[in-house]
Amino acid sequence: MKVGIVGCAGRMGRMLVAEVMASDGVTLIGGTEHSESAFLEQDIAKLAGFDETGIVVGSDTDALFSVADVVIDFTLPQATISHTQAAIKHDTALVVGTTGLNKKEQAAVVKASNSVAVIQAANFSIGVNLLLNLTSQVASVLENDYDIEIYEMHHRHKVDAPSGTALALGQAAAKGRGVDLESVSERVRDGHTGARSPGNIGFATLRGGDVVGDHSLIFAADGERLELTHKASSRTVFARGAVRSAKWCEHKAPGLYSMRDVLSL
Ligand code: NAD
Repeated sequence: MKVGIVGCAGRMGRMLVAEVMASDGVTLIGGTEHSESAFLEQDIAKLAGFDETGIVVGSDTDALFSVADVVIDFTLPQATISHTQAAIKHDTALVVGTTGLNKKEQAAVVKASNSVAVIQAANFSIGVNLLLNLTSQVASVLENDYDIEIYEMHHRHKVDAPSGTALALGQAAAKGRGVDLESVSERVRDGHTGARSPGNIGFATLRGGDVVGDHSLIFAADGERLELTHKASSRTVFARGAVRSAKWCEHKAPGLYSMRDVLSL
């Protein structure tokens, strides 16, 4: 499969290049950066720590989508919109890892999935996808006397909060309880907040250092607490899951798939 990587000079982009180059059954066909990037024309493989391959960072989105079977996107929400349009135009499958999409940006992803296979995950690690399943299961058993709190920590460069994974965990918990997350989520607490409302799902965000991604859920009742935690210590886990998804989507019908489809969970 011919794989293109948009945002190929980013933190995840370089990991993805390395993962594609080390994987069987996939060939790196090219990569792009935004038109002002300082990395344009630099060798993609060299940026990722490999020997030069002669493939250089470009900025022509259409050219990349026209030759790739699948494109992997870990960029910025505004860029992801243009990548969904290119996926439709060139009939190219898309793996979306970018987080922090607003409703309009998410609608663009859904629109693309009517024409091509789109695999979207807030977190491509296998451990987190198992945690999502466990969360729904635990939340379906523990009723409102167990307060659900979700907290996450990421490196100081992360621009969106709470993380896409924390929100996905909130969705999984809400699904387990049979409620709508929007109506029970408490995203910010500051000042005189009053007592906690039963059934709410609380979020807390920590930022600092080089933390790759920690997520915890606490189910807190009178007399006991159940805690579920996942810690990523390397971005490789996300790249591995994204490349596995890219391979999985070969010949898949148009549709919006998740990492749980890829893992048959
Ligand atoms: P980053 O800032 O290091 O990389 C993003 C790259 O995209 C940059 O190099 C930037 O120049 C490039 N870019 C911006 N606009 C572009 C455009 N129009 N065309 C091509 N490239 C463009 O960020 P990062 O840490 O690599 O994270 C990127 C995204 O991936 C974030 O949304 C992050 O939350 C998400 N992420 C998701 C997962 C997951 O498993 N789903 C894991 C890690 C990170």
